[in-house]
Amino acid sequence: MKRGLLLAFLLILLVACAVAPSGRRQLLIVSDEQLEPAAAASFEQIRARYPELVDRDRQAMLGCVVEALTQKLPPRWQRLRWQTVILDSPEVNAFALPGGRIGVYRGLLDRFPDQDRLAAVLGHEIAHVVFRHGAERVSQQFAAATALELAALAREGGRDPRSRELLALLGLGAQVGVLLPFSRLHEQEADRYGQELMSRAGFDPRAAAELWRELAREQRGPRPPAWLSTHPAPREREAELSARAEALLPLYQQALSAGQRPNCTPP
Ligand SMILES: [Zn+2]
Repeated sequence: MKRGLLLAFLLILLVACAVAPSGRRQLLIVSDEQLEPAAAASFEQIRARYPELVDRDRQAMLGCVVEALTQKLPPRWQRLRWQTVILDSPEVNAFALPGGRIGVYRGLLDRFPDQDRLAAVLGHEIAHVVFRHGAERVSQQFAAATALELAALAREGGRDPRSRELLALLGLGAQVGVLLPFSRLHEQEADRYGQELMSRAGFDPRAAAELWRELAREQRGPRPPAWLSTHPAPREREAELSARAEALLPLYQQALSAGQRPNCTPP
């Protein structure tokens, strides 16, 4: 049994390596397809918790920004069925789940009603999907649990592995990537990819730095924005995004001159 588990673990490490869009090697034991039921359930749970905001102008604006951004993704990600919903809650928050489900809280649209800052948030969230960060986090948890199990087995002299616990990790409940914070590396990747994506789509990359500047100011306020609970360290990020915005300006200008000028903000 012990040998079997060890073999399974090594096999996982051998076969489950994928490459992220940044070129970084990733451990992906589960695929987005395998996460699909859990992602769908999470989305439905959140939609059941908050009423959906029916506001044609804002829905059109959100759809317009998401469309402009996703059109600049590699073809297989363009083909994903991106869905967006506005949740009627004052929280300044947004998320994207594996499978292309995007949720934006009304509070975020109240706070950042212009297309560029909205594109900064959505570009970041879309990047988490394209990098398969949800699947990677689950895979890392699984590998860590398997490694712990192996260590326990070595100690206990070959008792049965508690494989049910491992499988429960894959079952996931309904928390896939919604409320759990991503790692610093995932956040960095999402910041970088999201800001480049928004530039290519014709949104001003400086808006990403502005957004973080404002969030940093509000961090110590009476009600810090909910997005910050899963996206910490606003000051560092603002500095990084601000430096990269300058480097991305030529790409942004190029998009504008090529006629890529999204006009999503309602009058
Ligand atoms: Zn994030």
